[in-house]
Amino acid sequence: MVQKVEKIWMDGKFVNWDDANVHILTHTLHYGLGIFEGVRCYKLHDGRSGFFRLRDHLRRFNDSAKMYWLKPIYSIDELVKNSIELYHQNKMKEGYLRPLMYIGSGAMGLHAIDNPLHTSLIAWEWGKYLGDDGFKNGIRAKISSISRLRPNINFVKAKAGGNYPNSILAKREAMQDGYHEAIMLDTDGYVAEASGENIFVIRDGIVRTPPATASILNGITRDSVIQLLRDDNIPLREEKILREELYVADEIFFTGTAAEVTPVREIDHHMIGDGKPGPITTHVKELFFDAVRGKIAKHHEWLEIF
Ligand code: PMP
Repeated sequence: MVQKVEKIWMDGKFVNWDDANVHILTHTLHYGLGIFEGVRCYKLHDGRSGFFRLRDHLRRFNDSAKMYWLKPIYSIDELVKNSIELYHQNKMKEGYLRPLMYIGSGAMGLHAIDNPLHTSLIAWEWGKYLGDDGFKNGIRAKISSISRLRPNINFVKAKAGGNYPNSILAKREAMQDGYHEAIMLDTDGYVAEASGENIFVIRDGIVRTPPATASILNGITRDSVIQLLRDDNIPLREEKILREELYVADEIFFTGTAAEVTPVREIDHHMIGDGKPGPITTHVKELFFDAVRGKIAKHHEWLEIF
């Protein structure tokens, strides 16, 4: 359950949590076109706080809107300023941030191009997305019977609410079958991503992940991990991956803002490696947490410090 905090930012104003409501004719509620982001804010090693790659998330936020013919109202600078102010008003030092754009009421029907576009920033505390044990010891995943969206049906590079029933189907199926997470294949059968995370696969010391041109969301954690691996000269290839290659991998991990870096210990009852987080996964996890806590000077520009 999301724990209530004091304020939510809606269309330029800080409103009380309980007053942050929308009308039933809100267009997004009916047809599913809305845009969202997920950002984490961490306590830094020096006691200050920092949003991790906030500007990159907000750039994707405004880009996702443009992809769907929505005109973002707020600039990245305005959203950065209000995100920090939201944390101050809620006396938060660490947590999650959910920027959201939704089409308001006015006309009904699909066109409704003149309906107002609303923008909101919401903050809450969020622990380990795939559970504390999974984060530490690895999770169990299954290959989903649901395929990942394919290009030119929805815009797969947009983080749009309407893309997510696809992920929800996969996630619910996996959980009902006793797994923690679903891995989705594209419609050609290649590995795409998990329901809300990107995937990295390691064998013989080489790290592989599906390319940015694949039917995946271009995760900001994915990009951060790629840069951290390159910093350390760990071999990294962005290429197509087949389902059966997962079963014989030495190590697999997921990346995402919510999931951070989460090891995978089993897929479809195949144990990955020796069933424990492997050395490269453990190393990447350490690098990632050093970066988000401001311990890697080279990557200080990733942090929006306040
Ligand atoms: N894929 C999907 C489908 C997602 O929803 C997310 C979470 N935003 C990711 C990948 C990971 O992206 P990021 O690292 O930017 O959070």
